[in-house]
Amino acid sequence: MPLSPKYAANYPGESGYNLKMEKILVTGGAGFIGSEFVRKCVEKGFSTIVVDKLTYAGDLKRIECVKDFITFYPADTADQVKIEDIFKKEKPQIVVHFAAESHVDRSILDPFSFIESNVKGTLNLLNMARNYHTDLFINISTDEVYGELGNEGYFTEESPLNPNSPYSVSKAAQDMLGRAYYRTFGLPVITIRPSNNYGPWQYPEKLIPVVIYKALNGEPIPVYGKGENVREWLYVSDCAEGIFSIIEKGKAGEIYNLGSGFEKRNIEVVREICKILDEEFPENRPHENLITFVKDRPGHDFRYGLDSHKVMKEVGFVAKTTFEEGIRKTVKWYIENISWLNEKAQYLREFWAKTYKH
Ligand code: NAD
Repeated sequence: MPLSPKYAANYPGESGYNLKMEKILVTGGAGFIGSEFVRKCVEKGFSTIVVDKLTYAGDLKRIECVKDFITFYPADTADQVKIEDIFKKEKPQIVVHFAAESHVDRSILDPFSFIESNVKGTLNLLNMARNYHTDLFINISTDEVYGELGNEGYFTEESPLNPNSPYSVSKAAQDMLGRAYYRTFGLPVITIRPSNNYGPWQYPEKLIPVVIYKALNGEPIPVYGKGENVREWLYVSDCAEGIFSIIEKGKAGEIYNLGSGFEKRNIEVVREICKILDEEFPENRPHENLITFVKDRPGHDFRYGLDSHKVMKEVGFVAKTTFEEGIRKTVKWYIENISWLNEKAQYLREFWAKTYKH
C-alpha cells in the first residue's frame, strides 16, 4: 500500500470496521462525492435514503446502478416542509450531509445561492435531525474553511477559520451551525474537512475534468495564473471510505481533517494528465501544447495542506490511492465515458467564457 510519505511512518494498520445495518440519509447523493458514498452505502448494506435537489451539478445517472436499492427524494435541503416530511417518514439514524453549492468560481459569480443551500439548507437539516432524534449528523465541510497557506506548514483541526471565497465562507458558517447544534442542543454532530477530491463522475467545472475535456477535444486547456497553486488531492473512493471510518469510530462534537498527503501544483496536475493522454489518446499529442495560462481567479488561495494525523490515529484511516494511480484511473474513466463528459460540457461554454479570461 503506497501511502503518502507524510503518513507512512506511523499508520497503525487496517481498522476493519463493522457497521450496523442502519438507516442513513445522504443529502447531495446525486453529486460527485455523495454518489460515490451512496454506491458504497448500498454495498455495505445500509438502508439508504437520498435527498437531492438535482441542481445543474446533480445527476441520477451517477447512482443508476443502485437505484433499486435506495429511496430517492427530490428535495431542496432548505425546504422546511419537504425535509420535515422526509424525516417524519424515514426517521434516519445517521445523516450524511453533502448537499451544497460546491464550486468556488460560481460563488464568485453568484454568492447568494451558496448562502441559501449551504447555510439555510444545513440549518434546516440540523434542526430536523434534532427534532427527529438522529443519532449522528455528519457535516461534510472542506479544507477551504482554513484559508490559504504559504509554501510551508499544514492546517490542523485547531487552526483558525479564515475563509476567503463566498463558497468557503458559506462552508465555515455551515460548520459553525453544526458546532452550535452540538453545544446548544446536544445533537451528535461530527464535522469532516476533506481536501480536494477527484475521480470518476466529477462535473467538468472543476480543474481535473476541465483539463481532460479540453485536452480530449483539442481545445486550449485553461490554467489560472502560472499554475503555481497547490492542492492536496484525495481520490473520491478514499474520501468515502474515510467518512465511513469516521461514522464508525469518530467522536461526536469533533472535527476531522481528511487529506491524502499528496500535494501537487496545478500545473503538475495538468502536465500529468497530458502525459497520460499522450499514451491513452494520442490524437492530439503532445497535449501539453494546449496549455493556456489565463487571468488568475480573484482571491485565489495559494495552497491548502491538511495535517490528517488525527483521523489516522483516532479512526485508523489513511488514503490508499496515490495521486499517480488515481489520476490514471480518472483519465481512463473519462475516456470510457466521453459521452457523459461531452453532454455536461455542452452547457458549460457560457460559464467557461465568464470564468477563464485572458
Ligand atoms: P457536487 O457539486 O458534485 O454535488 C452537490 C450535490 O448537492 C448535487 O447533486 C446537487 O444537486 C446537490 N444540491 C446542491 N444544493 C442542494 C440543495 N439546496 N438541496 C439538495 N441538494 C442540493 O459537490 P461535491 O463535489 O460532490 O461535494 C460534496 C460536498 O463535499 C460539498 O458539501 C462540498 O462542499 C464538499 N467538498 C467537496 C470537495 C471536492 O473537491 N469536490 C472537497 C471538500 C469538500
